[in-house]
Amino acid sequence: MIRQFLLLLCAALFQMTAQAQQPSAPLPSSAGTAYVIKAGRLIDPETGTATANQTISVKDGRIVAIGGNLAAPEGAEVIDLSQYSVLPGLVDAHNHLALTYKKVPENDVYYYTYIQESTALRAIEAASNGMQMLSSGFTVVRDLGNNGLYADTALRQAIEQGWVPGPTLINSGIIIGGIGGQFFPTPEMVKEHNIVYPEYLDADTHDEIVKAVRQNVLFGAKVIKICVDCKPYPYSVEDIKLFIKEAANAGGLKVAGHVQTQEGARRAIEAGIWSIEHDIALTDDLHKLMAQKGIWRVGTETPLMEYRGTQAAFDRTVAGMKSAWANKVKMAFSTDADYYVPGLSRGQVVINFLKSWKAAGIPDKEILKIMTINGYQVCDIAEKRGPIRPGLPADMIAVKGNPLDDIETLRNVSFVMKDGLIFKRDGVMTPEKFLHGGPINGWRIH
Ligand SMILES: [Zn+2]
Repeated sequence: MIRQFLLLLCAALFQMTAQAQQPSAPLPSSAGTAYVIKAGRLIDPETGTATANQTISVKDGRIVAIGGNLAAPEGAEVIDLSQYSVLPGLVDAHNHLALTYKKVPENDVYYYTYIQESTALRAIEAASNGMQMLSSGFTVVRDLGNNGLYADTALRQAIEQGWVPGPTLINSGIIIGGIGGQFFPTPEMVKEHNIVYPEYLDADTHDEIVKAVRQNVLFGAKVIKICVDCKPYPYSVEDIKLFIKEAANAGGLKVAGHVQTQEGARRAIEAGIWSIEHDIALTDDLHKLMAQKGIWRVGTETPLMEYRGTQAAFDRTVAGMKSAWANKVKMAFSTDADYYVPGLSRGQVVINFLKSWKAAGIPDKEILKIMTINGYQVCDIAEKRGPIRPGLPADMIAVKGNPLDDIETLRNVSFVMKDGLIFKRDGVMTPEKFLHGGPINGWRIH
């Protein structure tokens, strides 16, 4: 009897796994919903083209069909976006949702933020920041550490289980680096209080590197983030290759490297890292090497704003972008926007980074492709989510005007659909459908 029960249980579990892997299976959080979206203009960022008057049919959270004049599924609600452009959701390939440092009280030094704010508080901040990002049209965020004790994983789980709305998260868990990470604490704080952890995970030897990658994977990392050269004892090419090998071994994860020196960049490129985070060290020569090896440039190019930056730094940033573009380096829209600007939401701080891309002279339709298609690719999700394509989860946004000709239209996102549910409509957030009284997508999300 017990044996029979166990066999049945195994069969049921197997079936559930099979369903979970099936691309066209209904999304449980959206089961029973059906929409027909009338798009005045449907944008394809991949080809840089727009098609007028398209209908997108959405059922159980997924895109079912796209065409000129489709019949509505039974009971479908019609959403009239005939005065709008409909396009896939945007990607910020480098953010830290569970970190918000401020002028007061910590003078924008996140070492103090980490001391003052618990992981629990930061997880709630992250949920709020995620919604602010979603409201600005960012349906995917690559979240690269500095998130306390796995607040990033907690947020991803909460979103995937159906507790709260938020972007699809590709999260790194704790940043792995040589002793100290990016902090410069006192010996007392490091040796007696282990202050660097959990903001950084020390890994100096090969055994520690393997262990650190495995710890992050165990606690829900979907990408491995390392500090290549944050200290005067950077990782060697062999060290970085070991990270890459161990991450690949853990379900094919990619390695993102924080790089701040030319030597660090050279080593990361030679090792074949997936992405280089930040632009500060990247020269024309290094861009050529990156293009040759197909390494992503996640430049986090800060614009000159009244609240941030200097003219000299901005000029360097823009020159670097021009060099990368001319050398055909794979580029991602990325911000590192993890600070509070009074009066602005996290999404508004992020969208202000358009200023850097415009200043680099990159055509608007190419910027849009970078913010969408390239984003799905650097997140390594392009086959599973992102494009507006039958079978994929229904993630899309709408803006007035045509972003292919005027990228600034992205500053005003009127409509956001995530997993086939409406998060924002007529410019107003409508999160009710995302809030469930239990983990509607089950407890097997790790
Ligand atoms: Zn960062």
